[in-house]
Amino acid sequence: MLVVGSANADIVVPVERHPRVGETVIGGDHYRAAGGKGANQAVACARLGARTRFVGRVGDDDHGRLLIDALTHDGIELSGLRVTDDAPSGLALIVVGPDGDNSIVVSPGANARLSRGDLDGTGIEGAGAVLLQLEVPLGTVEAAASRARGLVVLNPAPAVPLPSALLARTDVLVPNRGELAVLAGANDEPASIDEAADLARSLDVVDRMVITLGADGAVVVEHGTVTHVPAHSVVARDTTAAGDAFCGALSVALLEGADLVAAARWARVGAALAAERVGAQPSLPTRDEVAEVAP
Ligand code: ADP
Repeated sequence: MLVVGSANADIVVPVERHPRVGETVIGGDHYRAAGGKGANQAVACARLGARTRFVGRVGDDDHGRLLIDALTHDGIELSGLRVTDDAPSGLALIVVGPDGDNSIVVSPGANARLSRGDLDGTGIEGAGAVLLQLEVPLGTVEAAASRARGLVVLNPAPAVPLPSALLARTDVLVPNRGELAVLAGANDEPASIDEAADLARSLDVVDRMVITLGADGAVVVEHGTVTHVPAHSVVARDTTAAGDAFCGALSVALLEGADLVAAARWARVGAALAAERVGAQPSLPTRDEVAEVAP
């Protein structure tokens, strides 16, 4: 598994209520954790037992060292990770309210410097599966998809309209409701499973799609055939990284030869376990933990 994407230091501050423009509110103690969609998805894959490489950039700073330590700790191969001295590490400033409602500002920093040339020597052409998101420059994502010879899984987050050549090269697209609406040029997010399936079918350049629907689970749309995969039932405490857990698990299952519906049924378990636990990377489950629920 090769993941090309972002790594961010998450600085999280709990607040009683979110500040209005121009206002200062006093929050609780902050904590710092390793995050970023790319790094989270790489950790998700590695914990599920896939031999995983990560291609990205961090700054030559304390946050960068935290990010490298976190990836190393999970056994991820980092020869494709560059330490860049012309930008700070990516940072996410996250304010979390009492109901888990959050506001996030992402400063991409080094992630914005990840270039097509950074793919050279990473072995991307030989990877069995390449997992991509959109927190690094779009040109780099396009180059990664076109150089890959194995399975290409794209989680189109954060949402932006995408060139049809990238969508056409994507084997499996994994958007949430909002991302699907942006890709399909719809004004509103799909409100039901049927609406999500209709929107997915309208994006006919992609043959295989899994739309994640939070607590409603996921919808697999494969060559126009729709299968609803309900969520695995848990008491959700923090859904941060549930989507990353889902994308990682789905990709690992596909790499191991599962069909798309079976892969989504396995991924829903990994995602639910991540939703049950607090934090981004700390909440991502191991293979044994998923196997206890879905042997
Ligand atoms: P994102 O965080 O990327 O917006 P979603 O919210 O759609 O993604 O969640 C991704 C997946 O995580 C869902 O498809 C579902 O399988 C799982 N999930 C999310 N929230 C819950 C929940 N409350 N209970 C169980 N599973 C959940």
